[in-house]
Amino acid sequence: SQLATDLAATVRSIPDYPKPGIIFRDITTLLGNPRAFRRAVDELVQPWAGSKIDKVAGIEARGFILGGAVAHQASAGFIPIRKKGKLPHATVRIAYSLEYGLDEMEMHEDAVTAGERVVLVDDLIATGGTAVAATKLLKQCGAEVVAAVFVIDLPDLGGADKLRALGTPVHTLMSFA
Ligand code: 5GP
Repeated sequence: SQLATDLAATVRSIPDYPKPGIIFRDITTLLGNPRAFRRAVDELVQPWAGSKIDKVAGIEARGFILGGAVAHQASAGFIPIRKKGKLPHATVRIAYSLEYGLDEMEMHEDAVTAGERVVLVDDLIATGGTAVAATKLLKQCGAEVVAAVFVIDLPDLGGADKLRALGTPVHTLMSFA
């Protein structure tokens, strides 16, 4: 679509970052463009414009920038999902695999109450490991994960399909092969 083309043109592609053979999709150029930032946030919210969302959960760190704006636009609360050891109150924690080894993410145990409708936000979905773990944390606390939304999908890595197979609707604004 025209939207995807226009927005995609504001994403900067960095070859060989963070290591040889990887093309990093840098969204700081999208965020720095006033029209593109507003458009991306509007489009991330749009599928749920008619239905009530209680909270938006953002994944550290780029998911905080987008998630805060999405929460404001949706008149929802915001929940930070963070790397372990950063949150001050009692947390729930989940381990997830990275390319090399394991990492853990956390959420405050009282960040959602049972039955709350939550949208998960991050900048990009690749293998889906990060988003699947975040979704599990939210569901463990009783949240209904209404959808997971991302600016960028890397469909060849299969993450969006994996999330959908687990029952979470996925909405993305553009794909890079
Ligand atoms: P996954 O767990 O789906 O394999 O990786 C997605 C996570 O890694 C997201 O939190 C995302 O921010 C980060 N990530 C991986 N590759 C890229 C990239 O090329 N660009 C950006 N902006 N983030 C990436």
